[in-house]
Amino acid sequence: MVTIEEAHKIIKDQPKELKTENRNLSDCLGFSLSENITAPFAMPSFDNSAMDGYALFGIFQEYKIVGEVAAGDMNEIDLKEGEAVRIFTGAKVPENTTAVMMQEKTSVEGKTLHLEQMPKEGQNIRRKGGELEEGELVFEKGYTITPAGIGLIGALGIEKVQVYKKPAIHLITTGNELVAPGKPKGEGQIYESNSYALAAAAENFGFVCQEKKQIADDFEKIKSGIKDSLEVSDVLILSGGISVGDYDFVKQALEENGVEELFYKVFQKPGKPLYFGRKGNKFVFALPGNPASSLSCFYLYVLPLLQQLSGSKKNGLQRYFFPIIHDFENSGDRPSFLKAKIVEGKVEILDGQGSSMIISMALGNALAFLDAETSLKQGDLVECLLIS
Ligand code: AMP
Ligand code: MG
Repeated sequence: MVTIEEAHKIIKDQPKELKTENRNLSDCLGFSLSENITAPFAMPSFDNSAMDGYALFGIFQEYKIVGEVAAGDMNEIDLKEGEAVRIFTGAKVPENTTAVMMQEKTSVEGKTLHLEQMPKEGQNIRRKGGELEEGELVFEKGYTITPAGIGLIGALGIEKVQVYKKPAIHLITTGNELVAPGKPKGEGQIYESNSYALAAAAENFGFVCQEKKQIADDFEKIKSGIKDSLEVSDVLILSGGISVGDYDFVKQALEENGVEELFYKVFQKPGKPLYFGRKGNKFVFALPGNPASSLSCFYLYVLPLLQQLSGSKKNGLQRYFFPIIHDFENSGDRPSFLKAKIVEGKVEILDGQGSSMIISMALGNALAFLDAETSLKQGDLVECLLIS
């Protein structure tokens, strides 16, 4: 048995082989860069207008209007002192421009422009290099690409980026009692839901579960299912069959497949019977079958590994402290991750904390971390891990 911290450290300290690939700008959201990106040119690359209005030469109240320049125009206007040109947002300002006056502060009579207020030097001009200098480091290797990141990479004219590949994930659920949703269910059977929840949790964080298999509690079938999946996956996730029951064959089946155990059992609630192992460069998690336990273990342990394998600097769920809206006592002897709901900056610990109960997790949005044997008073700060 290991502590929560030990389990995280074991996962983090594993040597990992990261693979890279080239991806198109339109297809790289959520991937992490395996290269630095520097600005190939200054941004903006020319002085341009921040407003629709008039580019002015000199500081006066009135100017003579001598032309027009729109966004994308390439003509050079040689502006003389006391002259103005009509200009539009994003258009290159003529070389001698002192300032741009927004059109709302102007009036025009024939060719004469009147300003309602005096211009200030440099006003409404977006300067060349104002956002980035040429050659400046924009993104460091390991940056996980966001929509705004895609916008910036595109603005720099870059169409393909070098990123870390995401790990290939396979999922095996075990249990004689499990029936796929949509099929008729007999006495003593339950619907198999973990594979759906786990695949969805992976997807929520930008990972794809390539294959899902359901196997009965049969040692040989589990063993050969693991063998097949290990050949084609980077991360194999099993659910169920990892406790100490007579039909819990997963641990032995992993051993017989040459998987090396890195830890088994974590001192926590829920999710104590959690297994982590590796074979070569492939990693295996065997999660407890109880729906809330398996999903908690995914968020707490599998997700950080997936992020590390995809070259991301992220490390699991985001953690914040929130004040609790009621008194609460964790009388258990293990540190606990409790289903909780954060509303308007305050957290409530929900009813229905049993490992088999997923409703509180479905209605909540966080896991609240409480040490063993702690009591909280209303208003005390609680560490919350955001699951949505
Ligand atoms: P196990 O870890 O195999 O002992 O399973 C613990 C509990 O979780 C049992 O009540 C199982 O029926 C339930 N369970 C196991 N696997 C799943 C699954 N894939 N979907 C829903 N419930 C499951
Ligand atoms: Mg089982």
